[in-house]
Amino acid sequence: MQKYISQLNDAQQEPVLHKDGPMIIIAGAGSGKTRVLTIRIAYLMSLGVDAFNILALTFTNKAAREMKKRISDIVGSTEAKNLWMGTFHSVFARILRSEADKLGYPSNFTIYDTQDSVRLISAIIKEMQLDRDIYKPKQVLGRISSYKNSLITVKAYFNNPELQEADAMSKKPRIGDIYQQYVERCFKSGAMDFDDLLLKTNELLSRFPEVLAKYQDRFRYIMVDEYQDTNHSQYLIVRALSDRFQNICVVGDDAQSIYAFRGANINNILNFQKDYEGVKTYRLEQNYRSTKNIVEAANSIIDKNKTKLDKVVWTANDFGPKVKVHRSMTDGEEGRFVASTIWEQKMQNQLGNGQFAILYRTNAQSRAMEDALRKRDIPYRIYGGLSFYQRKEIKDVLCYLRLVINPKDEEALIRVINYPARGIGDTTVEKLTIAANHYKRSIFEVMQNIDRIDLKLNAGTKAKLQDFVTMIQSFQVINENQDAFYLADHVTKKTGLIQELKKDATPEGIAKIENIEELLNGIKDFIEGQREIDGARGALAEFMEDVALATDLDKDTGDDDRVALMTIHLAKGLEFPYVFVVGMEEDLFPSAMSMSTRSELEEERRLFYVALTRAEHQAYLTYAQSRYRWGKLTDSEPSRFINEIEGQYLEYLSPEETNYRYKPMIDSDIFGDVDKSKLRQMKPVGGTPPKHITGNEPKPDLNIRKLKPLSAPTKTGANLFDSGLTPGNIVMHERFGKGEVVNIEGAGADKKAEIKFEIGGIKKLLLRFAKLDVI
Ligand code: ATP
Ligand code: MG
Repeated sequence: MQKYISQLNDAQQEPVLHKDGPMIIIAGAGSGKTRVLTIRIAYLMSLGVDAFNILALTFTNKAAREMKKRISDIVGSTEAKNLWMGTFHSVFARILRSEADKLGYPSNFTIYDTQDSVRLISAIIKEMQLDRDIYKPKQVLGRISSYKNSLITVKAYFNNPELQEADAMSKKPRIGDIYQQYVERCFKSGAMDFDDLLLKTNELLSRFPEVLAKYQDRFRYIMVDEYQDTNHSQYLIVRALSDRFQNICVVGDDAQSIYAFRGANINNILNFQKDYEGVKTYRLEQNYRSTKNIVEAANSIIDKNKTKLDKVVWTANDFGPKVKVHRSMTDGEEGRFVASTIWEQKMQNQLGNGQFAILYRTNAQSRAMEDALRKRDIPYRIYGGLSFYQRKEIKDVLCYLRLVINPKDEEALIRVINYPARGIGDTTVEKLTIAANHYKRSIFEVMQNIDRIDLKLNAGTKAKLQDFVTMIQSFQVINENQDAFYLADHVTKKTGLIQELKKDATPEGIAKIENIEELLNGIKDFIEGQREIDGARGALAEFMEDVALATDLDKDTGDDDRVALMTIHLAKGLEFPYVFVVGMEEDLFPSAMSMSTRSELEEERRLFYVALTRAEHQAYLTYAQSRYRWGKLTDSEPSRFINEIEGQYLEYLSPEETNYRYKPMIDSDIFGDVDKSKLRQMKPVGGTPPKHITGNEPKPDLNIRKLKPLSAPTKTGANLFDSGLTPGNIVMHERFGKGEVVNIEGAGADKKAEIKFEIGGIKKLLLRFAKLDVI
């Protein structure tokens, strides 16, 4: 243990060694907050604290898994296995399952995802005959969500004239009624939405003192990462649980609070000292993640915010390259710049795809990036957006499985009752819904009793409904006796889902079947994993729980090497050697929707701070002078945030340099050890060359003193590039050793050799940069 502690600096060691009593670590990005939290847990365990008594709440389940892994490495996996770790949602979903009966829920309650919630709200709006243009389902859900996260229940809402007035003023006087219907319908379906997982936990802890006491006693040491982004509901849970032992450790950075729009309350961090007695505050100042240029550029940004705690962030790392700023004409060109830069950096520095991240403000921006990456054959992965589990064909299978676990789940039932088509029409479903609401029962229960309720259905329809019930019940029997994989495989065949998809022979149709196969593989993997853990049967319910709470990041196994594309919000806490922040334009970033108040603008600025501080070695900021937005070509100005960075940390790339490919212009003898990629002669490969070359065009940046040597081509490399290398040649590479050329492709500056090295296998090298000798 001592070994791990001694790897930390003094300021980091102090909070690790702090055992009892409330504490807060406030520190800037990359200063080791998460690392301190991890080591502290291992340290507590080394002092004899039982893993069962430690709770750690993280921003993603992936972060929790990684932490657990590190802790296992230190204290051993048998010990670490019993730690309670995960997101608020996953930890409290687990607790709610074991206490569900107290709240009148079945322990197999379904967790509705946002799609389910939006669909249900749409249905309610329709049933209430309200105008969908005024009552936009997503907005209504947002409103309900903010009520729930502020612990305003339906009852509290109707007891609060101010809230009702506010809704009436915004021309939505029926919000309260929709809220009430929504809550009733979820309850009737045995379903909780994401916000319920926190709201109901609060309800559980406040209504049942013995339950509270039980969990207070269990969670004697509580740790919360990214505390700046907790909302009121989460705050209250943490307060209640830590009230008895007061062993609470929160870490956060007020400068990285970016979820206010979703109800996160930065005051939770600012007021922490007031909430607990004798709080010890720790500050970490040294950043270990990024270069000096990045750290200082980020500091100069956050300085512009008025609301902030005083903090210092510095680093002992190298200056590194400056933050590069690139302008392009269009978003398409921006994408091409990003893709070609990644490609060049990979070739030049032998980097993997996984070293690069492209971050944007809105998901829509990914398209231009994807197009460009695809053209260059650069593998990438998009996080966020429509997740795998929300794809139609996947969700169809999952909805059948949800019904097996909880047949009351109405959103699942409505989705699959007539898919694949089995002659149960909309009118029938409407009748069933009305009856279910009338009897305050689920649709499935109505269907089970279809003979006893007069819904004016003909005998054929009744038979179809009964068949459906029988089919689901037969799945339930299988579920009792077989593992989740067997069941899921059976369901996809028996329901006719696969046959239905097979009718579509287009590539899209085939891809859907492949996705279902991938889902089945995922289930198989899950079962194997479960077996490895504790010999569990691989029950369906556990898999479904995982799926319901999986964030996109969680699926990342990290074993395939891809460029990561995601919104800045999702990138919180992560780090990458090379980061592109794209779409640095006014109205996009800062977003047009977040500029009306100072506090909104400050949140955007914090978001930019988060983006920049993800980079370890090099950050690029790119913007386009025009881009398609909402189907229209719109002109844009560079983001104010670029100008807010102190000039000394920036390097502006001239567009002329990047629109065209160049070939080294000057013999290396003249310029010595200089980055050749900077010394280029115009030689267009794609696109149109400038119309008139007059000799007065802006020159590439030739200020040699400013340039730091990267891996300059050796003389032999440059010669090879000129003379040509052929398959069969045996070569020697500085790092990879001996190899045989197997293929040559491309021409001029793009010329590449595929070389099979004795050690390390086949690699593709750009001859312009490759350090090769023919032997
Ligand atoms: P963020 O605010 O972005 O969440 P953080 O404060 O949680 O950042 P970490 O992610 O814990 O910072 O650490 C940033 C990087 O610095 C990690 O790669 C971590 O391993 C490394 N690091 C932290 N402390 C040290 C140390 N004492 N010595 C070497 N590396 C360190
Ligand atoms: Mg962190």
